[in-house]
Amino acid sequence: MINSKTKLIGLLGHPVAHSKSPIMHNSMFQALKLNYAYLAFDVEPKQLEEAVTAVKALHIRGLNVTIPHKVEIMPFLDEISEEARIIGAVNTVVNENGKLLGYNTDGEGYVRSLLEETGTTLIGKKVLVLGAGGAARAINYSLSKQPIRQLVIVNRDKEKADQMKNELKKQVEVGVAGYEELEEEIRKTDVIINTTSIGMFPHSHQSLIEKEWIEPRHLVSDIIYNPLATQLLQDAKEQGAVVHSGLGMFVYQGVLAFEKWTGITPDPNVMRESVLESFRKEDLDANR
Ligand code: NAP
Repeated sequence: MINSKTKLIGLLGHPVAHSKSPIMHNSMFQALKLNYAYLAFDVEPKQLEEAVTAVKALHIRGLNVTIPHKVEIMPFLDEISEEARIIGAVNTVVNENGKLLGYNTDGEGYVRSLLEETGTTLIGKKVLVLGAGGAARAINYSLSKQPIRQLVIVNRDKEKADQMKNELKKQVEVGVAGYEELEEEIRKTDVIINTTSIGMFPHSHQSLIEKEWIEPRHLVSDIIYNPLATQLLQDAKEQGAVVHSGLGMFVYQGVLAFEKWTGITPDPNVMRESVLESFRKEDLDANR
């Protein structure tokens, strides 16, 4: 029930109509009977500063930030966490009595979901990450805090991968490889993570990895969640590997943001189920 005491959380992005964050967070607020509401605001880049000023004026409790504002919002915030500063992007903001604090929960959310959903450990593992874009920056930062043996970054634009290596090499052993070395690298790795957009709807049949290269001992993770099971994950499953879908990253970045706004740890299963339910409804509507 919305009333004059309702605390507001906003999503700033452009576009935002497709986002599952409002459904996911509002379901959790309702399940916990918390007097919060989550709304999506479509903010054009040229109006981002005004939107952030309004957050203070309207006493909005917090924000999620999505494409294309994750980097551009940073100068308008009062404080930025060390993690968000190193990653170079903010996806969560808390309004603490008029002070806007920026965080990045994407990387930690990803690692938490990987560990909790697969029951695996990363101790001593060799991890191969495909891609060096924004999501990879957050994921690789969090992986570098884990007790892994080595991180190997494979990206089309090798310069970006080299730059990421330089940023992380004090924390973890990092290697960079090209796509021509991918088959050989996969043979040497334990965990494979796709952070590129290859395989995303509507190009759902695409994968950067040949099915035959995947072995049952591999853990294969894809951060794409539309479709829920990408071509890469379908191939990995057929090869007997353990698979991990991108929905977990989305849910757990939300869990961590929810904790920052409310001080309460939500149930990831309720949040995941609300997103899945929304996908099912969309499928039903599309087939009508
Ligand atoms: P981004 O910053 O634009 O990075 C895209 C990455 O994909 C880059 O590494 C790029 O390589 C690579 N790539 C694009 N086209 C390619 C091609 N034809 N061949 C090889 N590599 C290619 O995007 P992002 O924000 O990191 O997002 C990447 C994906 O992650 C998207 O599908 C997004 O939906 C998903 N994502 C999921 C979550 C979640 O919560 N599950 C969160 C964030 C993002 P170059 O650097 O060489 O261009």
